[in-house]
Amino acid sequence: MSELSERFEPSPERPDTTGEKVRCDACPVMCYIADGRTGACDRYGNVGGKIVRTDPLTILHHAAEEGTPLVPFLDPEEPWDGELVNTGRRFVSAIGAGTTYPDYKPAPFIVSQEVEGVDLVTVVTEGIFSYCGVKVKIDTDRHIGPETATVRANGEPVGHVTTAEYGSQMLSLGGVRHLTGGSKAEGRVTCDTLLALCNRQPVELTIDDGAMLVVEAGKAPVIDGRQEQRMRVGCGSATIGMFATQWRDLVDEVVVVDDHITGVVSEHQAGKVLGWPDTGIKIIGRRSTPGRYFKVSEPGLGWGGTTIADPLEILGPFNANKGARPGLSLLMVSTTGEQFAYYELDQDLKPVAKPFPDRLKKSVDLIEDNCEPALCTVLFMGGAGGSLRAGVTENPVNLTRSVQGLNTYVTCGGAPVYVWPGGGITIMVDVTRMPQNAFGYVPTPALVAPVEFTLRRDDYLRLGGYAEEIRSVDDIAARGGAYHNPRRDRPAPGGNPWPPLRQRRRERP
Ligand code: SF4
Repeated sequence: MSELSERFEPSPERPDTTGEKVRCDACPVMCYIADGRTGACDRYGNVGGKIVRTDPLTILHHAAEEGTPLVPFLDPEEPWDGELVNTGRRFVSAIGAGTTYPDYKPAPFIVSQEVEGVDLVTVVTEGIFSYCGVKVKIDTDRHIGPETATVRANGEPVGHVTTAEYGSQMLSLGGVRHLTGGSKAEGRVTCDTLLALCNRQPVELTIDDGAMLVVEAGKAPVIDGRQEQRMRVGCGSATIGMFATQWRDLVDEVVVVDDHITGVVSEHQAGKVLGWPDTGIKIIGRRSTPGRYFKVSEPGLGWGGTTIADPLEILGPFNANKGARPGLSLLMVSTTGEQFAYYELDQDLKPVAKPFPDRLKKSVDLIEDNCEPALCTVLFMGGAGGSLRAGVTENPVNLTRSVQGLNTYVTCGGAPVYVWPGGGITIMVDVTRMPQNAFGYVPTPALVAPVEFTLRRDDYLRLGGYAEEIRSVDDIAARGGAYHNPRRDRPAPGGNPWPPLRQRRRERP
């Protein structure tokens, strides 16, 4: 344990002791913890009769940004030591900060910092979120389960399949009804699942009447044991629109097979503009607009997210009166370019598979090249609009108004968040922009997430902030806080705006 633990002095504010055990007061569970043991969440322990936060307080260091003098490369006088260029700017994140409970107590750290002549305050706390969940975006065309189908972890319901997006399937997991509204096992498994996903660990999920998935933030999804490679370039219609010119004069007809919108180049507006002749092709599906067909198949794991293994299944008879003729060439391809086949019509106008011609390889490769790698994206979503606000100001609604008015900038572990418009402070954050293992849990059950609120000192005082609790970054780095944990200094994850600077300029993330 670091020198920070030396700060501990028992006081009426600090935990009660019962025999050898010490009572943790950081959440409603109020564990009695024996010496040398940790409480139910493993976030706090009893070290020699003191309640100690077991993870270090994370202080982020700002690496070089525009305008910072560069370290000379290969300078014989002063060779670069390989360290990130340190600007001397530090940001006390809420990771390891601890939680105050009940909420009317001031947040664990209220930090002052002058940035480019502006006096800013950052209020730092690990919020306990009973109302929270994750939105998971899975880049795949494959059918993973019907919309609204239940998603399970270890057999317990933890969420559902929600509206698919462009090239991605979406899950909505967690939420107060799964955390607290079902059985104890459902709440516990939901909390475990959210915690693992937010801390970027792989999680196995099954979908009722659907697929088995392995989901991990920032990694490719695994669907029914098969790792997904590519996210589709677009729907079938969009693919026709993008590549029609590549196919002109190389093939007589192209069909891009897609579960949502299958495209046919000779009928599509892109083909019409290029003067593409009719081919007498017939697609078995619901025609939406020229060259665009819905429901050519059921959703599945085959071509373009359909059940199709043989693409000829979606073709009706060719019509000689509308341009079909023996020898007419036909390319069929999926929206990722992973599946493709080439046919020519025989004397009876039946398509016959032929070796794939070299002249078309480039166009199929181009579809594949335009596909992005398939990834899982995990966004943590939670409501900070409840009692947590009381740790920031004595008049909680002032914080909500300040956030909505862009006077307060909200971050999670230093990462920018999206604040939903409307009432409360409902935030969303990409967990891959946060330092790893930034989340914890309490067995109520609820997730614990780091939250920082940064605003001008004068604004903070105006909204009823705890003036006497404000401390400098230097003081916190030197003396720590009430929970005696060591501190860990680490570079801020790349790509995130530096929170105090962002607030000084009062910009949206
Ligand atoms: S669950 Fe964790 S935070 Fe809650 S009282 Fe127990 S040790 Fe403290």
